[in-house]
Amino acid sequence: MALTGLQIYKLLPKTNCKECGFPTCLAFGLKLAAKGAELSACPYVSDEAKAALESASAPPVHLVTFGEGDHKIEVGNEVVMFRHDKTFYHRPGLALRVKDTQPAEEVARAVAEAAAYSVERVGMQLTLNAIAVENASADPADFVKCLETVKANAKLPLILMSRNPASIEAALNAGAGAKPLIYAADVENWQAMAELAKKSGAPLAVRARGSLDELATLADDLTKAGVQDLVLDTGTRDLAGSLAQLTQIRRLAIKKSFKPLGFPIITFPGEGAESVEQEAIAAAQQIAKYAGIIVLDHFNPCVVYPLLTLRLNIYTDPQKPIQVSPGIYQFNEPGPNSPVLISTNFSLTYFSVAGEVESSGVPTWLVISDSEGLSVLTAWAAGKFTSESIAKTVKTCGIADKVERKVVTLPGMVATLSGELEEELPGWKITVGPREAVDIQGYLKAQPR
Ligand code: SF4
Repeated sequence: MALTGLQIYKLLPKTNCKECGFPTCLAFGLKLAAKGAELSACPYVSDEAKAALESASAPPVHLVTFGEGDHKIEVGNEVVMFRHDKTFYHRPGLALRVKDTQPAEEVARAVAEAAAYSVERVGMQLTLNAIAVENASADPADFVKCLETVKANAKLPLILMSRNPASIEAALNAGAGAKPLIYAADVENWQAMAELAKKSGAPLAVRARGSLDELATLADDLTKAGVQDLVLDTGTRDLAGSLAQLTQIRRLAIKKSFKPLGFPIITFPGEGAESVEQEAIAAAQQIAKYAGIIVLDHFNPCVVYPLLTLRLNIYTDPQKPIQVSPGIYQFNEPGPNSPVLISTNFSLTYFSVAGEVESSGVPTWLVISDSEGLSVLTAWAAGKFTSESIAKTVKTCGIADKVERKVVTLPGMVATLSGELEEELPGWKITVGPREAVDIQGYLKAQPR
């Protein structure tokens, strides 16, 4: 639980020496509580107070990292129940599971396809994040062989899945990639798994059999045994039960500061599903609430794309709309007589418009006005896409130097601004374009060139 400024002040030296840059210890304490200062700014905090303050300021859901470099996955570190309370910080990793009982060619094909999958949305590349390799045969030699096939076909972080510590040890010894996630410790094998996790420095998943009490006890035993990076699996697979338990875990971690369950959660939506569609529904539910790693059993772009998009939307900071830089964008080599469109700098708006303009093949200038990342209608309603702001953009962005044909086209949604804009932009003709991006191609093709 976060400490108040007063509670922090009681742990400070109270000498008001000002070395931290604040006039008093109380001012420093208040700033620390508001997360506007670093504890290290005070050189006189005792070790005891430091430990208390650091533990109180630690995020309620522990940050767990696996994989390395560009493919590193970070999950946890969440501080709120609901996205609109602040934001969700670390988007859940999506993984595809293969088993060592599958033919090697099938594993190679599935893994290569999943690893190569990448789709662009609002200027970002969305991809799968990890491969889970399951030791379904329970044989260490088969496990290592399958692992070699996976490593040869994908450079993604690995989740090593086996209940047999000997198989996990064999995989680790065979070189299981950079910092894999070990899955899983349970009531029977947790001591051996804890030793392997400590020896390898890999995070460890802990699996219960549907009971949160069992999960908390196991997690507590493992942290006492020295394993700090844990990932939780409740063992519950049905939709309602999974939702209830994932919510309880998040609530206990955030509202009650219950440390044994203050870890990210791993889920297996395919295990409780009777079809690929059911698996997708469970995965979507778990993206929203509150999975940290989701292991899929099927890879199908028709399913993965909406899941990646959902994840992107939920894990975008609601206080910071995704936006592009205001300015002039060129499509299809525009010239002095090419049309000039204007729009806002909300990413989704920009990429929808840009995609249609580019596909039209018509040379076009696109002027993007700074609407603080709001879409056309929202920005207009909020007074951030007005005749004044549009006129200012047109006058200052330099488009007047690039065109002889002084015609600017407004989005159809704000047709009402055309009269005012004509007054603001003497010398320019204002036209009104389509309301929807999908109609832009037809509109552009009908323009005089
Ligand atoms: Fe107080 Fe430490 Fe700041 Fe000095 S440096 S005023 S002791 S908080």
